[in-house]
Amino acid sequence: EIKTFLDEKEINISEPAATGLRPILNFSQIPASKLLSKKPFASFTTPTPIQSASWPFALSGRDVIGIAETGSGKTLAFSLPCIEALNSSPKPKSTRGARARAVIVSPTRELAMQTHAAISVLAELVGLSAVCLYGGASKDEQRALLRRNSGADIIVATPGRLKDFLSEGDVSLADVMFAVLDEADRMLDKGFEDDIKQILGACPAREKRQTLMFTATWPTSVRGLAESFMVDPIKVTIGKRTF
Ligand code: ADP
Ligand code: MG
Repeated sequence: EIKTFLDEKEINISEPAATGLRPILNFSQIPASKLLSKKPFASFTTPTPIQSASWPFALSGRDVIGIAETGSGKTLAFSLPCIEALNSSPKPKSTRGARARAVIVSPTRELAMQTHAAISVLAELVGLSAVCLYGGASKDEQRALLRRNSGADIIVATPGRLKDFLSEGDVSLADVMFAVLDEADRMLDKGFEDDIKQILGACPAREKRQTLMFTATWPTSVRGLAESFMVDPIKVTIGKRTF
């Protein structure tokens, strides 16, 4: 039955049998499913293939590589496990100085803003805050958001601006437990490799955090990122692809 589902949806999981984890076919199977009854998720009836296949691993704490094309629902694929991870661990006493516990890196300002809008909906439902940092806009306004009393549990950012804020001491990633590289292939195409290395280098060691990476393609450069920054990642591929 599972094999039929995986074949039908063209889902390939790098170690399907060994893990004992089954795809999530229904929103009711996930602990945080209550969250999804809220707008704008209320209209979603079933998880998309990348959500079905990656959630069991991401929710169990594994590092996950998701390879799927645009429009396949990757934002919720990483946002839900991110919220779950933060919500089920104790919140540090002081969030002042923007000690983020999750960081999501996006290739463009537009994508960062879209992701921030989507994850903010979930975050607010459980009392977490998310801040969006991107270039081409006032640093002072973004710095003010980082310094709010509500803190910044989740930072969604483009690589260049986040690197600037890191080096200027406005952001600390020392408490990050959940890191996401979204559209990793596009970030490398745009020359952000060094920024990404600095950002992940400012997070706790890869053994001490969970790292998710999403990409539409799987070139050597993206494999290199996975090798350097992930621990025994499970690879979930959607669509007919041979790598
Ligand atoms: P990607 O990041 O893979 O390009 P998005 O996460 O931006 O895709 O999702 C694409 C669209 O699909 C968005 O409008 C999103 O709200 C919608 N979507 C995501 N998950 C579901 C779902 N399970 N059911 C219906 N629509 C969904
Ligand atoms: Mg996306």
